Amino acid sequence: MLGLMQQWPLLCHKILDYAAAQHGQREIVSRSVEGPIVRTNYVELRGRALKVAQRLERDGYGLGDRIATLAWNTARHLEVWYGIMGVGAVYHTLNPRLFPEQIVWIMNHAEDRLLFVDLTFLPIVEKHCPGVKSVKKVIVLTDAAHMPQTSLANAVAYEEWLAEADGDFAWKSFDETTAAGMCYTSGTTGNPKGVVYSHRSNVLHAMMAAMPDAMGISTRDTVLPVVPMFHANAWGLAQSSPMVGAKIVMPGGKMDGASIYELLDTEKVSFTAAVPTVWLMLLQYLEETGKKLPHLKRVVIGGSACPRAITEKFQKNYDVEVIHAWGMTEMSPLGTLCTMKPEYDDLQGDARFAIQQKQGYAPFGVEMKVTDDEDREHPWDGKTFGRLKVRGPAVAGSYYGGASSEQFATDGWFDTGDVAHIDAHGYMQITDRAKDVIKSGGEWISSIDLENLAVGHPDVAEAAVIGVRHSKWDERPLLVIVRKPGREPEKADILSFMNGKIAKWWMPDDVAFVSEIPHTASGKIQKMTLREQFKDYRLPTETAI
Ligand code: ADP
Repeated sequence: MLGLMQQWPLLCHKILDYAAAQHGQREIVSRSVEGPIVRTNYVELRGRALKVAQRLERDGYGLGDRIATLAWNTARHLEVWYGIMGVGAVYHTLNPRLFPEQIVWIMNHAEDRLLFVDLTFLPIVEKHCPGVKSVKKVIVLTDAAHMPQTSLANAVAYEEWLAEADGDFAWKSFDETTAAGMCYTSGTTGNPKGVVYSHRSNVLHAMMAAMPDAMGISTRDTVLPVVPMFHANAWGLAQSSPMVGAKIVMPGGKMDGASIYELLDTEKVSFTAAVPTVWLMLLQYLEETGKKLPHLKRVVIGGSACPRAITEKFQKNYDVEVIHAWGMTEMSPLGTLCTMKPEYDDLQGDARFAIQQKQGYAPFGVEMKVTDDEDREHPWDGKTFGRLKVRGPAVAGSYYGGASSEQFATDGWFDTGDVAHIDAHGYMQITDRAKDVIKSGGEWISSIDLENLAVGHPDVAEAAVIGVRHSKWDERPLLVIVRKPGREPEKADILSFMNGKIAKWWMPDDVAFVSEIPHTASGKIQKMTLREQFKDYRLPTETAI
């Protein structure tokens, strides 16, 4: 027997319809790529998104067409997204921080037919886009006055292109499982892999993300998504903010401490989200200038482990609550968020910070388990770590074009490639990437735990730990350090700082000082490159055998 309720497919453009109907005058503020701050609202944004849809249809784009964007977070980017989804086409966010060759590879793989590009990235497109034969037209996200000379024969200024539509258009309707968007993982191993979100998965994910114990945003919030739309839907904020009618502030291309502070202050931002690197820059700016954050209430930090020092500074010095979060492109991207359950209500000081080091627990819609290599499930005891596997309605079921199917088990669980443990209250903590964990004498050492500990040393700017070949133990940890400017800590200082805070056999066998640690396009430490750099490194402990 079927339920007798109405058919109301979960389609992304309905989010914008809702925002315009119920929160129409709520502002969307952008730092434009041209420079000035630009203001619009949900009614206007919906009107322009409808024009995008109308114009796309007139140009012959529709169901299933992949349409790429290479752009910062702005209202224009947002209206383009909703316009694309509104005709059943598929937005495909490109990460401008990738090498141009990778961008070209990804565009060819996705067979993008059209490209929307910010002025900032036009030079990359001019140089490399002719290598993408499927792209028939390039739309530059600017007006005629700012449209530069370009070598591209098929380029038009967005505002001129849009002006040819009158907005008298109705969204297309289709099944909720239709593809809505596409995002490639950075491909730190092998070629990038395409994740294809559906309308249904995006809508459900936006609901999960907005829930009170997840991000907990509401119409009373002013949300600053510093995390880019090209990083897995700005962690869902591009959909969950209009879904709750929050005011949005878009940072454009400026992510430095002063620029972010300016928006936080002038727009009275109450909620924001980004990777740790962004917050390091902001905290440094605040320390240098003595400025405070009177309006900001919550900051979501994820993408890589949030160092305890960042959590402490936000909470102790600025009275801003930190929500540590974990996720991945394949999960739309939210997996867990570290908000406090009542069980932890009474925790204070160090004990509370220790919980906040964890990545948190899963909201409704994410199931998790931790297993050994034979898929035997580990207990939720907060210490037995193993492979973290997930499933849910916003978790990828396969990659575009069927790449790398071994991560998708036949029983419906996706192997995240992360190594983690889960405690009795359901709080998960990442201890490593499966490929980065250090295997010493058959036991596993978490490189992330060692890194977190090492960055706690006052003279350390950044730390990375890799396994180096060892004749007796297979691998032993090498700690690679970037010193803070003007500071000269020695190996012995660092090791004695760590001593006693971890098991003795976890202690790094050596410390190497470097001027820079390599990073991926999404700001994560590039362990592969680092391992390559130190592949012939001889640990001092070798001589003892
Ligand atoms: P990629 O960098 O490959 O494109 P994602 O941006 O989707 O992939 O990153 C997902 C990975 O980032 C996770 O599998 C995990 O290893 C890491 N990650 C994300 N958030 C956290 C966190 N809070 N702590 C530790 N690692 C994290």
